[in-house]
Amino acid sequence: MRVLQACAEIFPLLKTGGLADVAGALPPALRAQGADVRVLLPGFAPILGGLEGAVEVARLSPPAAMAATGARLLYGRLPACNVDAYVIDAPGYYHRAGGPYADAGHHPYADNHLRFALLGWTAAALAQGLDPYWAPAVVHAHDWHAALAPAYLRAAAEAAGRPVARSVYTVHNLAYQGLFDARHFAELGLPDHFFAMHGVEFHGHLNFMKAGLYYADRISTVSPTYAREIQGTEQGCGLDGLLRDRAHELSGILNGVDESVWNPATDTLLASHYDAARLEFKAECKSTLQRELGLEPAADKPIFCVVSRLTEQKGLHLVLQAVPTLIAQGAQFALLGSGDAGLEAAFRAAAEANPAAVAVKLGYDEAFAHRLIAGSDVILVPSRFEPCGLTQLYGLHYGTLPLVRRVGGLADTVADTRLETLDTDATGFVFDEFSAAGLLQAADRALALYRRSADWLQVQRRAMAQPCGWDVAASRYLALYRQIA
Ligand code: ADP
Repeated sequence: MRVLQACAEIFPLLKTGGLADVAGALPPALRAQGADVRVLLPGFAPILGGLEGAVEVARLSPPAAMAATGARLLYGRLPACNVDAYVIDAPGYYHRAGGPYADAGHHPYADNHLRFALLGWTAAALAQGLDPYWAPAVVHAHDWHAALAPAYLRAAAEAAGRPVARSVYTVHNLAYQGLFDARHFAELGLPDHFFAMHGVEFHGHLNFMKAGLYYADRISTVSPTYAREIQGTEQGCGLDGLLRDRAHELSGILNGVDESVWNPATDTLLASHYDAARLEFKAECKSTLQRELGLEPAADKPIFCVVSRLTEQKGLHLVLQAVPTLIAQGAQFALLGSGDAGLEAAFRAAAEANPAAVAVKLGYDEAFAHRLIAGSDVILVPSRFEPCGLTQLYGLHYGTLPLVRRVGGLADTVADTRLETLDTDATGFVFDEFSAAGLLQAADRALALYRRSADWLQVQRRAMAQPCGWDVAASRYLALYRQIA
């Protein structure tokens, strides 16, 4: 089956969050199960730079408002991602000094609706024969950036009087919807009647996410619990009604871990390698980390770590409040993150106040993320909401026990350690109440377990043995494609 994955970022070429990890891992996993997969990406500089053997497939002629860019569609191979790719070469849209979505001052680009409408429009054009040699039977669009693809496909089907290709739309985070002023709708070249409550209109605005959710043949999100949560008002971000209406076409498919990137036995970014049978080498990763960060070189002090975007979603102000207590109880704390300026300053101050026990590295650093997760004992993910979460999966796989809030994908992937679960299914520590006290109660249990090294080892080995590859997710996506194709 021919499947086109449309998304805005892909690991390792361009990554701002978990979406890139998924975009990088899913195509090879689908291919391993027999699908003929290509990806479609905007031509950001790192993506164009990674494209080998590029040929021009077509000059694009999108709706007038987008046409100003003189865009071309290239086809080639992204060896770093092990995937064949279509890349939209539109320098006017994608070569900018800042990030992919916002300028250096974190202001979203004023023409984001056009920059990403072009992505959705091109996906639909490929389904209609833009490349005479290859057309997808299924277009799988990810997040708001690609969410207009199902709308353009529906418009094409209405014009042709028959379906052109089927579509799946996956929500990686419902909080980022691609919301624009209604006047921009006219620039998209979609039929007028699409700007309606049953369409892309959302309280008088244009909503890309809603287009994906409304027009795709199937919708999915990245964990079963999040799929349920977003049907409620608390986490539905205003789209819960639509999600409830489509509940029978909505699935929750858990992300996996790309073991060619995240595997402590082979991870090329680590100085020492280990697996569940050779955990003494994890201790080497820990002492190396303590040296690197200037922490007290104490093998018996558990290191609690965080690897995260610093945003409200991630519950990191709970961590800030909890750190002094953790330190007083003999733990160390290390954070890698970037984002909110207030959180950055507060974590920096915590490290300056106690450099032997607290270390903070601000910024984005893929290699250090690996060293930090491998060298720590516990990884904290106390999110307010969490569609799937990847760092707790990396923690499990690296024997770095996750301490998480019972929400979204975190609830689906970590089993709490209690007396009655210790010998059966415990893999980490789970708390419910979104407060520092809730987090600290779980941390108390982590610290108590850490002091019982045989029990700790047992839970660590079980965590590392959890099935985590992409094969299960890939077979579930394939089943979805087959249902509709
Ligand atoms: P989200 O997509 O909401 O940011 P996920 O847990 O799904 O959260 O994915 C986050 C991804 O980004 C993980 O691969 C994580 O290791 C990585 N990451 C987050 N912050 C950083 C950072 N500062 N440096 C390096 N990698 C980071």
